[in-house]
Amino acid sequence: MSTIDDLIKIIKQGSQKNKYKLQVFNNFKNRPKVDLDLIRLAYDFAADAHKGQLRKSGIPYINHPLETAITLAQMGMDQDTIIAGLLHDVPEDTHFTLVDIEKNFGSGVAKLVTGITKLGVLKYRGIEKYAENLRKMFISMAQDVRIIIIKMADRINNLKTLESLPPEKRLRIAKESLDIYAPIANRLGMGQIKGEIEDLAFSYVYPEEYAWMKKEVMPKIELRMEYIEKVIKIIKKELSAKKIKFYSVHGRPKRLFSLYKKLIKPHYNREIGKIYDLAAVRVIVDDVSGCYSVLGALHDLWKPMPGRIKDYIAQPKPNGYQSLHTTVFCVDGKLAEIQIRTKEMDAQAEFGIAAHWQYKENVKNIDTTKKGYTSPKKLKWVQDLVQWQKDIADNEQFLNSLTLDVFQNRIFVFTPQGDVIDLPEEATPVDFAYHVHSWIGDHCTSAKVNNQIATLDRKLKNGDIIEITTDKNRKGPSHDWLKFVKTHAAKSKIRSNSSRH
Ligand code: MN
Repeated sequence: MSTIDDLIKIIKQGSQKNKYKLQVFNNFKNRPKVDLDLIRLAYDFAADAHKGQLRKSGIPYINHPLETAITLAQMGMDQDTIIAGLLHDVPEDTHFTLVDIEKNFGSGVAKLVTGITKLGVLKYRGIEKYAENLRKMFISMAQDVRIIIIKMADRINNLKTLESLPPEKRLRIAKESLDIYAPIANRLGMGQIKGEIEDLAFSYVYPEEYAWMKKEVMPKIELRMEYIEKVIKIIKKELSAKKIKFYSVHGRPKRLFSLYKKLIKPHYNREIGKIYDLAAVRVIVDDVSGCYSVLGALHDLWKPMPGRIKDYIAQPKPNGYQSLHTTVFCVDGKLAEIQIRTKEMDAQAEFGIAAHWQYKENVKNIDTTKKGYTSPKKLKWVQDLVQWQKDIADNEQFLNSLTLDVFQNRIFVFTPQGDVIDLPEEATPVDFAYHVHSWIGDHCTSAKVNNQIATLDRKLKNGDIIEITTDKNRKGPSHDWLKFVKTHAAKSKIRSNSSRH
């Protein structure tokens, strides 16, 4: 048994023709142990199966599953996932079958490859296909979220080699990546993967806009990074002087596509000057108390901007994101955003759900029974999603609900006990009530928001504390609530449980 770091070395040697520039995201000691002999066997098996096949670019086909497996290894995924990454195109493109895979690598690997093969036959054409695509993605995600993680790694490699495909196909794959893969990666908290997919697809889907960003915005990001470098030097000096231990201090430029989406909002109107987080400083430390020590030291050095201190450590976002954020009046009086977190939190932010495989035993601060943050393989919200997607046969209605429930911006509100509930933007106390329990939804009579009486159609805001009053004698929900509720759960319960008039 050995570590993933050894593995990366070995699978790199596996293919002599390709020189991999390994971008090692993290250098964790916690990576899962793997059986390197078995992984090498899987590589040989795949290389043999794809023998003689070429990618559209002319390079040997095995390059593609190998790249996929390397991405998975870099994410710290477990052995079965890496092996499935190596074998993911075998059943579809070679004479070997799923039975061969199961015989040689066991049922765990075979199940993952089966899941990927089922997703493989989809083509994106129009709204119907889009809905079908999403349905299948969610069903496989509900079976085992690792299927989607492999699919993400597969997609990243396909996007990197898009250049060799005909223009029409290029556009289809890039568009599908923005519409389907990026939002799912985002919902799984996989920030690094989402950002990479979006930036790779950006130039194909919006070539002119991409060119504009490259010409007008990139130089400004570079300038900003120079400024951030100055700030980093000062932070390092200050922390050393105060004897506060840190793991690293580095700059993070904002991702191009997410910056583009921000710039085209009416408020920004393409004025780059209005955006002051073109790049942020990130301080990585060993433990939670270290995070607060760094925050104190930085506020001692620079005045924080009121209302911009966010403690996502005490109150993590439902997708698992944890960090301290502050914006300070920094060098030359300019504003700078600083993010402070532990190594584990950083892995969680970059890889989301995938980080569970690196930190299975280390995630102590997070209550894994909470909604939106459950066991790594089976996510509660995905299970819910699969349940209700079965109820909605109409694809257009399915997409509308999905857009509202899953892909829209989320707000995070609290129960009086301090539990975090995530809801779509503009959700109301009734949505909240149904989210907690359908009985509470059916019997709610009034609500308090931040201790003040509020109407049931009040649009909730981030951070609100909601208290619901129920009346057990209430006959059921009011049909009128359909006019303002936002979530699918609330809508379907009101429809089935309310008696009109
Ligand atoms: Mn593939």
